[in-house]
Amino acid sequence: MKRILITGAAGFLGSHLCDKFIKEGFHVIGMDNLITGDLKNIEHLFKLENFEFHFHDVSTFVHVPGKLDYILHFASPASPIDYLKIPIQTLKVGSLGIHNLLGLAKNKGARILIASTSEVYGDPLVHPQTEDYYGNVNPIGPRGVYDEAKRFQEAMTMAYHTYHNVDTRIIRIFNTYGPRMRLNDGRVIPAFIGQALRGEDLTVFGDGAQTRSFCYVDDQVDGIYKLLMSDYTRPINVGNPSEITIKDFAEEIIKLTGTNQKVVYKPLPLNDPLQRQPNITLAKEILGWEPKVDRKEGLKITYDYFKSLPEEVLYKQEHNTFEKYVKI
Ligand code: UDP
Repeated sequence: MKRILITGAAGFLGSHLCDKFIKEGFHVIGMDNLITGDLKNIEHLFKLENFEFHFHDVSTFVHVPGKLDYILHFASPASPIDYLKIPIQTLKVGSLGIHNLLGLAKNKGARILIASTSEVYGDPLVHPQTEDYYGNVNPIGPRGVYDEAKRFQEAMTMAYHTYHNVDTRIIRIFNTYGPRMRLNDGRVIPAFIGQALRGEDLTVFGDGAQTRSFCYVDDQVDGIYKLLMSDYTRPINVGNPSEITIKDFAEEIIKLTGTNQKVVYKPLPLNDPLQRQPNITLAKEILGWEPKVDRKEGLKITYDYFKSLPEEVLYKQEHNTFEKYVKI
């Protein structure tokens, strides 16, 4: 049985990856320090023989007994609100964490795939973003702790690949959504759906002309799996190219949820990228991958998930994140 270590296992993407690799017949070792992850996302796996959980912070030395065939490094805060709350941990997991995991991969002879991000392109001056674009990042802005950690992570990964012959893969993940996102993580989809469910107005930042392109989680997981199983070692974009302005997106959510609330405008946070859309030509050609779930379908599943959460979760979680956003 192939053994895979998944860091960030209790997070949104990490937990879906645990499910995927269990389904594919792997022995899955999930690792998380639960700083942003939630054990609820993986508690259904604890009864399985081919799943084990290690409560550990990968920014400190990582030890996993036995053989390892694959490592997926998905541990990291991943929303602007989290970077503001825990900037040092965000920097550490992308730098010290990746160093530990690359060392582990080298030691075990394991193939390692690292989760990079469209944030390496910053506020992009090339549109849509292709993998050969170097990006436009403000290192000392509020997103710098994430963007630069991820850029360092790519550099470190290529260095281990080149100098130590470690078998590496780098995926650049564009905005991804689906069940198990945190309601209070400040990201636009849980924010808007949460607001609609609580009967609050939807907060659009800036004039809402900024664009994003949202990929449903099952498509993203499929892309990650295909990249891991491929021979391609350079960075590759995985995301859904269907682009929409945030203002139109708010209207879509209003329609979907049937809420009577309206849109209210708040100032645009610093360095909020004005446009984002993946060019996925490489993923199509090399991985034979493209997204299959359209936004309407994916949002319906996501809305049903949030609606099914107990009411106290909807209200208990701190949800008024905007003030924190603009303080920086
Ligand atoms: N956004 C918004 N209202 C919210 C939360 C986010 O208008 O309540 C905007 C945010 O300013 C950004 C976009 O939605 O332009 C996507 O934000 P998110 O945090 O989901 O992801 P990222 O900016 O990292 O792509």
